[in-house]
Amino acid sequence: MREYDDVTKEVVVSDFLGGIGVMDLSRKYEIPKSTLQGWIKNATHHHLWRVESPNGPQSKGKCVVCKAEKFFPNSITEFGWPLAPAFKAKPK
Ligand SMILES: [Zn+2]
Repeated sequence: MREYDDVTKEVVVSDFLGGIGVMDLSRKYEIPKSTLQGWIKNATHHHLWRVESPNGPQSKGKCVVCKAEKFFPNSITEFGWPLAPAFKAKPK
């Protein structure tokens, strides 16, 4: 299987985001469609973080799509991640 560098991936993904279809990208760059779809999925999916219950200052989250792991601070929101109502500061 051919290896592609990160620059190629970035160009292809940005073309895709610019509205070029996978079929056209495959022809344009001579990259197999399945390879393109993998890159696009990795680059464009919204991580679906499954976050463990709070235990200390951080919670470990794992993306159910790509299995990436990430630690979330328990006190602040990130990327608009909505905190469960129980974690919001109570109004005084
Ligand atoms: Zn993910």
